[in-house]
Order: sequence, then C-alpha cells, then structure tokens
Amino acid sequence: MLLLPRFDYEEPKDLSEACRILAGLKGNGKVIAGGTDLLVNMKKGLISPTCLVGISKIPGLSEIEPQNGSIFIGSNLIVAKLTEFEVIKKKYPMLYEAASVLGSPLIRNRATIGGNIVTARPAADLPPPLIAMGARVRLKNRRGEREVELDRFFKGPGETIIKKDEILTGIILDEPPIFSGGNYIKLGHRKALEIAIVAVASFIVLDKPDGIIMDAKVILSSVAPKAIHAVSAEKTLIGEKPTDKLIERAANLASQDCSPIDDIRGSAQYRCAMVEVLTKRTLTAALKQAKKSR
Ligand SMILES: Cc1cc2nc3c(=O)[nH]c(=O)nc-3n(C[C@H](O)[C@H](O)[C@H](O)COP(=O)(O)OP(=O)(O)OC[C@H]3O[C@@H](n4cnc5c(N)ncnc54)[C@H](O)[C@@H]3O)c2cc1C
Repeated sequence: MLLLPRFDYEEPKDLSEACRILAGLKGNGKVIAGGTDLLVNMKKGLISPTCLVGISKIPGLSEIEPQNGSIFIGSNLIVAKLTEFEVIKKKYPMLYEAASVLGSPLIRNRATIGGNIVTARPAADLPPPLIAMGARVRLKNRRGEREVELDRFFKGPGETIIKKDEILTGIILDEPPIFSGGNYIKLGHRKALEIAIVAVASFIVLDKPDGIIMDAKVILSSVAPKAIHAVSAEKTLIGEKPTDKLIERAANLASQDCSPIDDIRGSAQYRCAMVEVLTKRTLTAALKQAKKSR
C-alpha cells in the first residue's frame, strides 16, 4: 500500500487566516478541499507538498447565494450538493448534468467545485458548462481579490493562472438570458466512474422563440490540453436561423476545430467523429430548451 508523504496541516477558521498562512508558507504548500485529486497525486508520489491548508471549516465557502442577477457558488461546495439546489437544476441545467455524471456517489460526496476547476484536468466535467455559460472565478490572497473569466483561467493540463498564495473562493454565474438553453454530454466507456473520452457543452441564445441565434458557445473537452471553443462552429451559428442543416454544419465544423491525440481511451479519429455526434446532440437539446425558456 502506498503511504502519504509527511506534511504539516493547517486548518484556518476564516479566509483572512487562510490567506495569511498561504502568504507565509516557506516550503511548498497547497490548499486542500475534498482531497480526491490531491491525495491521489500525493500517494502516487507525483507531488509532495510540505504543508496542506484545509479550507473546509471556512464559513461561506460552501454556499450558493443569489447576488444582483447572478449567483455565487462557494468553491468548497461539494459536487453532490450542487445537484440538490433547485436553482441549479432549473436555471443552469447544464451544470446540473455535468455534476450528476462526475465520478461516483463516493467521489461526488467529497469532490468540490473549486477543486474540479483548480486541478485543471483536460477532462474535468464542470469547466465546459461553466465556460459555456460565461462563468467568472473569484480569487483571493492577502493583498486583495480579483475576478477572472473562467475561459482565461486555464493554461494547460494541471496549469492555471492562480498564484501560489491565492484561494479560489467562488464561481459567479450570471442569470441566463431569456430564450437561452444549454446541454452537456460526456462520452465514456462506462456509465459511472468514467473520465470523458470526449465531452461537449453547448449554449445557445435566441432573439425570440422562433428567431435567430444571437449567441452560441460550443465547448469541447478531452480533445485538447484544456477545454476549447469550437470557434468556427460558433461563428457559423451566430446570426443564423437555427435549422437541422445549420446544426449539422456546425457539428461538422466542430470536429475540425479540434486536434485530439490518440490514447488508450480512444483514437484521434474516433474522438473527432464523436465531437461531431455530441455537438449535434447538445446543440439540438440546447435549441429545444431555448425555444421554451422564459
Ligand atoms: C476515482 C476518481 C474518479 C474521478 N472521476 C472524475 C470525473 O468523472 N470527472 C471529473 O471531472 N473529475 C473526476 N475525478 C477527479 C476529482 O474528483 C475532481 O477533480 C474533484 O472535483 C477535485 O476536487 P477536490 O475538492 O477533491 O480537490 P482537491 O483534491 O482537494 O484539490 C485539487 C487541486 O485543487 C487545488 N484546490 C482545491 N480547492 C482550491 C481552492 N478553493 N483554491 C485554490 N486551490 C484549490 C488543490 O490545491 C489541488 O491542487 C475523479 C477522481 C477520482 C479519484
């Protein structure tokens, strides 16, 4: 059995104490939330932080709060809880769908939304729908706070713009526009405990139920070092009246917008073919929802 390396452990009572501890760390420290990624990597010997800073006791980081036409989701909210809020199910169904298929019940009951973002896995389930809906993340350190679009947060596998002394405190999502809809589909070999071979999140805004597409986001996951936009698919959709033909054209363009690698879970060719299928399905579902949404 692999044992964890030795490390110090700090458990701050509030955010300012957490920021003070992180700012004062001499060695290599890390925030720990659910530990489902961090502890696995430590056991494998991939990382060996000298100090872990546990944030689970910090008040306010595990809640969802409405804020002037948007909602704030505390970074420490566990994924299972995310699926229990009516506001998530009703207003952000794409996020609900992604949270429902993340790992297994055991993982969902420990993993946090913040951990799923900061860990920056190319196949992570929550970033694609969050990026598609224009989410922003709030980062705090001892010197202050900043808000960054999630779309600009990721640099590559395991790499983000977060600084060593910063804590991701929460995610901000604006209220979805009228006549908008979104859908997320993850393709894996199994029904549970599966890391995506390909996943697609699509979000559409119409000007009226039978009108033209005002905005479109098609986010592809597991086909690049980080979640990416299917840029030409998005361009093709915007300003057009949605038809089956248009969706098929966008789906085909999406498969050309990515250049995945071959690996043990699927070949590049298979992944591209699946991007086309999932883009078509997610756009069709998003459009149906947008036509009904008020
Ligand atoms: C068996 C298994 C199955 C899995 N299946 C899936 C899956 O299907 N889909 C999927 O997306 N993921 C999956 N994962 C990965 C993992 O569960 C998720 O990425 C999880 O959401 C990580 O959250 P956590 O709270 O456990 O993060 P932790 O492990 O605590 O932390 C992960 C990283 O984020 C940093 N961090 C955490 N919170 C903060 C914060 N607030 N501020 C700054 N830094 C922070 C930590 O320092 C660390 O670097 C799986 C993992 C396992 C072990």
